[in-house]
Amino acid sequence: MTREHLIKPLLTAHYPTIAYGKGVFLYDSEGKSYLDASSGAVTAGIGHGVQEIIDAMLAQAQKVSFVYRSQFTSEPAEQLAKRLSDLAPGHDYWSFFVNSGSEATETAMKIAIQYWQEQGVRGKTKVISRRMSYHGITLGALSMSGHVARRRRFIPLLEELPLVAPPYCYRCPFHLEASSCGMACADDLETVIKRIGAEHIAAFIAEPIIGAAGGAVVPPDGYYQQIKAICERHGILMIADEVMTGIARTGAMFGMEHWGVEPDLIALGKGLSAGYTPIAATLAKDHVMEPILAGSKIVMSGHTFSANPQSAAVSLAVLDYIEGRQLAKAAEEKGRCLLQALERVAEGCPIIGDVRGKGLLLGLELVADRAAKTPFAPAVGLTQRLVERAMAKGLLIYPAAGGVEGAGDAVIIAPPLVITNEEIDLLASRLEEAVHEVM
Ligand code: PLP
Repeated sequence: MTREHLIKPLLTAHYPTIAYGKGVFLYDSEGKSYLDASSGAVTAGIGHGVQEIIDAMLAQAQKVSFVYRSQFTSEPAEQLAKRLSDLAPGHDYWSFFVNSGSEATETAMKIAIQYWQEQGVRGKTKVISRRMSYHGITLGALSMSGHVARRRRFIPLLEELPLVAPPYCYRCPFHLEASSCGMACADDLETVIKRIGAEHIAAFIAEPIIGAAGGAVVPPDGYYQQIKAICERHGILMIADEVMTGIARTGAMFGMEHWGVEPDLIALGKGLSAGYTPIAATLAKDHVMEPILAGSKIVMSGHTFSANPQSAAVSLAVLDYIEGRQLAKAAEEKGRCLLQALERVAEGCPIIGDVRGKGLLLGLELVADRAAKTPFAPAVGLTQRLVERAMAKGLLIYPAAGGVEGAGDAVIIAPPLVITNEEIDLLASRLEEAVHEVM
């Protein structure tokens, strides 16, 4: 056997070789097709092989692909920053472009700390996150993540940051009923702030809808309003990690729009380029930038590829495509249709304990006993088995929540926003078959 050179996620596993993609389908080199019901890692939001994006990519490459941000700015980068500011909740944001969601959340963390430093406040350096959270794999982003399985190996290198209870009504961390809970999960943030002291805390970070660490967990209405009020009361910035929820995925351009909350900082990634090129962004509100503009005038971060015109041009074309076709509205409508289809699948599959999500960011929680909500033992490896069975049937779904304290087994279903009703039916029937085979 010839030796291999590419480090793959699981070194000993066999991965099919991709040949090409079109719409919601991917095709491997042996001609097998896959319905991409997870948009990869919730990324390929407009589907594969879209000609408009390919044209924009080529047009920019013919002008210039790369310039270094400390030497030049570019029209696409300037336009993209302006466009994101116009789109984001409450507007008036600056953009700092990076290459991955991890860099975007880590940059948000750094800007939050710098915001306080520029005002002479040196002790506010901690960022609070939630136990069920994933904000990225780089060390700063991982420090802010509660995802135990992804942290474990690097604990000596990570900062121990405070974690609060997640808004996870299906398995309420306080064992309360949603109708009478008084939003104890939001109050937990205030409890932790008081325990640690607001003078040590720069920011609170949260994914509007918990993705990889929960499987499309939607908080109860009123939760984010309460969180924002707590942050304001204690002088703490609020960071929305919209890496997974941003850019139309949940039926609105930004997840926080569902709750009318304007975060101080926003991290974007994934859907920002719909996977056509690596780009991510940290958005900072005018009032966050003010002390930096009045002080050092430099945001102390940056990467070689930050704000490169090629990625920015692609991202602009993706935004044109999404807005031109009203894909946020489509995500809401198709999402409702897909949710109903998944609920129908769940009726005949007792191992599906919960169907949830918003727009086209949906999740299924898998349980050994539906009435008692008993999770499967980790040794059963149910999520992985389901993901593998689905793939064998030509359906891609995304494993979530594994190895996260307090979370059950879950998968994310998040197809491209352009999915048709017929493709939703096909998705549901392949999923149903796969679930029956692992039951
Ligand atoms: N934040 C959230 C909410 C994510 O879901 C992810 C990735 O799954 C990240 C951050 C990290 O993004 P990336 O993998 O692009 O570094």
